[in-house]
Amino acid sequence: MQRPFDENLYRFDKPQPSYWEATAEPGRFDNAPLQTQESCDVAIIGGGYTGLSAALHLARDYDIDVRVLEAGHFGWGASGRNGGFCCTGGTGVHRQELVRLVGLDNAREYYASQVAAVELVRQLASDESIDFQAQGSAEVEVAHTRRAYARLQEDHDLLTNSLGLEADLYSAGECRERFYDSTEQFGALVTRPTFGLHPLRYCIGLATAAHRHGAKLHSHSEVVEWSTDGAGEHRLMTRAGSLRARKVIFACNGFMQERLRNDFFGRTIPVISAIVVTRPLSEDEKAAQNWKTDNPAANSRRILNYFRLLPDGRFLFGGRGDIRGSEQNEQRTYENLIGTLRQIWPNWRNVEIEYRWHGLICMTASLCPTLGRLDNDDSVFFGFGYHGNGVNTATWTGKQLADWIGNGREPEGLPAIVRGLSRKYPLPGLRKGYLGLGLFVSRQLDRFR
Ligand SMILES: Cc1cc2nc3c(=O)[nH]c(=O)nc-3n(C[C@H](O)[C@H](O)[C@H](O)COP(=O)(O)OP(=O)(O)OC[C@H]3O[C@@H](n4cnc5c(N)ncnc54)[C@H](O)[C@@H]3O)c2cc1C
Repeated sequence: MQRPFDENLYRFDKPQPSYWEATAEPGRFDNAPLQTQESCDVAIIGGGYTGLSAALHLARDYDIDVRVLEAGHFGWGASGRNGGFCCTGGTGVHRQELVRLVGLDNAREYYASQVAAVELVRQLASDESIDFQAQGSAEVEVAHTRRAYARLQEDHDLLTNSLGLEADLYSAGECRERFYDSTEQFGALVTRPTFGLHPLRYCIGLATAAHRHGAKLHSHSEVVEWSTDGAGEHRLMTRAGSLRARKVIFACNGFMQERLRNDFFGRTIPVISAIVVTRPLSEDEKAAQNWKTDNPAANSRRILNYFRLLPDGRFLFGGRGDIRGSEQNEQRTYENLIGTLRQIWPNWRNVEIEYRWHGLICMTASLCPTLGRLDNDDSVFFGFGYHGNGVNTATWTGKQLADWIGNGREPEGLPAIVRGLSRKYPLPGLRKGYLGLGLFVSRQLDRFR
């Protein structure tokens, strides 16, 4: 089946060589591949946060017979390889543009759901005893130019006066004293709620909890065919087995095979995001950049970088990748990323990089996450398109879908901007071209600012 990027990005049998894979606790649950003919009430395609949160809530809160089919191991996708920022966001535009795009009331409603989504992650960890190594208590958004700081000042007013979030603004001097110093530091906006976590431990924790509450989980079970019979029952074929179900949740986000069901064709653009992690920094090295914070942080470049000091003193640094994803381009992406890291923190130019990996985030044409039920088949549910922000949003989406199925009606208060299937991109065959053009323009703008 055709996919938008190089095969290098879809090796379901191969875990990423990530810091998270190297430090995750192995799952303690039965997740053998599907190798027989089975049936269930709700089948979920995709074993990341969306699918696992849906499975956990369906099994735990509604006692529904649910199975999850995952092509790789649980957490093989973005949920096992992200930066671990549990923060607000989830749209493809900056918050000021979001307000212009959807209006203040819609944006406020959406942000309230984002705050609830962060709290949901925290609550699940506590209820289900998931030790995901929570770290920090806010997100530090650093201005990379003076003009960017002026924009953060406007953001501060918008967040605190209109969107109902907690935020503080710090000058460059204050930022240096509290957080860090660098060649690209002109002040910072600090927003809450946010914290950092170990993304793969969180994902495995969700899988373990879902299994404990009765969900059946199948790793290494890629769905290669999806058909529906005359009575409306779904049949999902994997390479070794098949699953019949009355309802299906499609939860594959950036890794989706959009031809699996044509309703989903042309509605997303997957985008590569890549991460490098250093060896642990010494106290002297941290002091050389005045690094003092364990809060997750990001800069204000249009092609932004996200970064955090990990609990063992390593530095994680992430940013956008290329538009092909071949092994050769992947190496170039890492070199660019490492070059940017050393440019922003020159005193760390000799610090070795020990881990590098990449994955796919998922954009939509509406520039907002999308969740709901198909208009032409009310037994098919979906949730995807979290842009760079799925730790909280995907978890929350999975819960909304579970509540929808469990209660037999749409959850009350779903923000208008995420409801229903996001529209198709015009001329979907040109999507890689749109992405390439967007990245090119953003890089030029970053260069000249
Ligand atoms: C490098 C990187 C950094 C990121 N950093 C952050 C961050 O710091 N904070 C944040 O909030 N978000 C971040 N994100 C985004 C976040 O990780 C995602 O939005 C979130 O994990 C999406 O969860 P999901 O369950 O919807 O999708 P995924 O976790 O991608 O899971 C989808 C699953 O579907 C499976 N699948 C695909 N096709 C099939 C099939 N045919 N049959 C069976 N299974 C199939 C895949 O194997 C995959 O495991 C980042 C993403 C990346 C790639």
